[in-house]
Amino acid sequence: MNDVGSRSKFEVVIVGAGPAGLIAGILLRRLGHSVLVVEASEDIRRPVCGEYLSPQGVEYLTTLNLASTLEGFEKIWGMTLVSPAGRNVTARFPEKRFGVSLNREIFQSRLLAEFRSIQGVVRMSTRLEKALETDHGYDLEFSGGYSTSCELLVGADGRRSTVAKLTGLKEERPDQSRVAIHAYLRPKQPLSRFGQMHIAADGSYLGINPINDDEVNFSIVTDAEQVRGNRDFKRLINDLLKKSPSLDQQFHPLDTDTVQVTFPITRIAREIASRQVVLIGDASGFIDPLTGEGITTAIKTAALLAEKLSTHPRLENALRAYAGARTSDYLQKETMNRILQKVIHVPWFCELLARIFEWSERTRTVFIGVIGNVYTPLQAMSKFAFVSLEKDVSYGKNRRS
Ligand SMILES: Cc1cc2nc3c(=O)[nH]c(=O)nc-3n(C[C@H](O)[C@H](O)[C@H](O)COP(=O)(O)OP(=O)(O)OC[C@H]3O[C@@H](n4cnc5c(N)ncnc54)[C@H](O)[C@@H]3O)c2cc1C
Repeated sequence: MNDVGSRSKFEVVIVGAGPAGLIAGILLRRLGHSVLVVEASEDIRRPVCGEYLSPQGVEYLTTLNLASTLEGFEKIWGMTLVSPAGRNVTARFPEKRFGVSLNREIFQSRLLAEFRSIQGVVRMSTRLEKALETDHGYDLEFSGGYSTSCELLVGADGRRSTVAKLTGLKEERPDQSRVAIHAYLRPKQPLSRFGQMHIAADGSYLGINPINDDEVNFSIVTDAEQVRGNRDFKRLINDLLKKSPSLDQQFHPLDTDTVQVTFPITRIAREIASRQVVLIGDASGFIDPLTGEGITTAIKTAALLAEKLSTHPRLENALRAYAGARTSDYLQKETMNRILQKVIHVPWFCELLARIFEWSERTRTVFIGVIGNVYTPLQAMSKFAFVSLEKDVSYGKNRRS
């Protein structure tokens, strides 16, 4: 599985073969750099993830000439939002945009094949353990006794970034108060091509993504306290299905023990670049899976890094430009996501929003447009202002398509 290079040095070493690392690898190879991607796991697997790719993520892959990695995956046309009291509202993404339900193992295997096809070098089962900064980059040591050096070290190693820790990039202590519980369920009948987001009265939420007619991706995010001492996650999911008529109607009870649990589910990076090291994807910051845009951010940050490296001859300037652009580009969306985190803990406010969405098709479409990154929050605010002037006349009722 490993492309054991005899090289003692690469221009770029990328740690992590998730979407961020692999896409950065492809783009930097296309720019002509020698690139090594190292991955701690033995092979590419499906991680704990809702596997929904937002409309903006689909567009990015098309622009980057990587749309073929999405072949055969089903489209997602919008979202059904379910309030704590069970009010449900379905909204389509605006402008006929669509997201995609991925199988991450297939998606990343295709990215890996693409990277290899353009002479990218890969080492699986190779965990970064030491990084020593030199005048010209980093000397790196990995598990299994492998070592190499590079001019640029890229941390694409997710929410528990080792690269950040080893290179001293500042970060906040991870918030351990929330956990994610994840499983694949069998639907009783094929679901519509809409994602579902169910908010519970205690601020927990449930994301549902129909991968295909036989498999549905099911993730619960809840307070760690709620599951402390309870290791029977299969039972927890089956009890949840039994309690909710809507879920019970849609899914067969879980009959396997393959339930995965993960934490932390957030990451706050205070520094995402210094002289010869940079973070992309989750390693560069991840608020929460609620709005399902982690994979899109992985793609975006990889593309942004490649763009800055291609337009700035000096590495230090390129990394500074990347860090500035990453921060300002995400400021609006990150602020909105933080507000949403507060909102889902206030049931009456969720009900109020659900009523507004029921009442106004345009408002729910704009909202779902922001969630899918079709609109920025500021564009959405200007559209909301427009709505009040225009007098919305759509009294859309509990639609489920
Ligand atoms: C419950 C849940 C649901 C989610 N649902 C969605 C969703 O529906 N849509 C969406 O867009 N996003 C979702 N996300 C977020 C999404 O999964 C991440 O944002 C995305 O995987 C980030 O990609 P990445 O490449 O940055 O990191 P990762 O996918 O985490 O990849 C990092 C890689 O680095 C490797 N690695 C780590 N340390 C080392 C080391 N020391 N040496 C070598 N390799 C190392 C890991 O093995 C891993 O393969 C969800 C997240 C959670 C927790």
